[in-house]
Amino acid sequence: MQPKFKIMSNRTFTMIKPDATTKGYTGAILDQIIKAGFKVKAMKWIQLSEEQAGLFYDVHRARPFFQELVDFMISGPIVAAILEKENAVADFRELIGATNPAQAAEGTIRKLYAASIGENAVHGSDSDENATIEGDFFFTKLERF
Ligand code: GDP
Repeated sequence: MQPKFKIMSNRTFTMIKPDATTKGYTGAILDQIIKAGFKVKAMKWIQLSEEQAGLFYDVHRARPFFQELVDFMISGPIVAAILEKENAVADFRELIGATNPAQAAEGTIRKLYAASIGENAVHGSDSDENATIEGDFFFTKLERF
């Protein structure tokens, strides 16, 4: 039998991408995330290998921009984090804005800090299921609380 209500997760996963970390926006972006009510449950500052970036974006492997995306994601360090808040996935997508910063709403992180559809400053999970998969990709149980 299906459960009557879908249980909503209160966690999402984010990365501050290499364009933003190398331009020195990490602190300002984290500040905006925390002021929006998200609590950091896990965090690390790392540089991805080509294989790791390809695996993370495996769903986009057939897209024409896949190699460009991988090359960009390994071009500098990223900050990966698990964030907690009620309605985390939807609220975080609203906070970061549209994939293309030209279409992102005023005040969103991508509007403020992203340069293009590819180099768009931050990642935010698009579903509860992917938030769990993506968080598990980066963090062991010991690295989160
Ligand atoms: P998101 O969920 O808003 O991050 O967007 P998608 O899941 O559609 O795409 C994943 C990531 O691929 C985006 O955040 C971009 O970094 C990159 N991307 C998407 N579309 C393009 C594109 O047309 N060109 C390039 N170079 N990168 C893209």
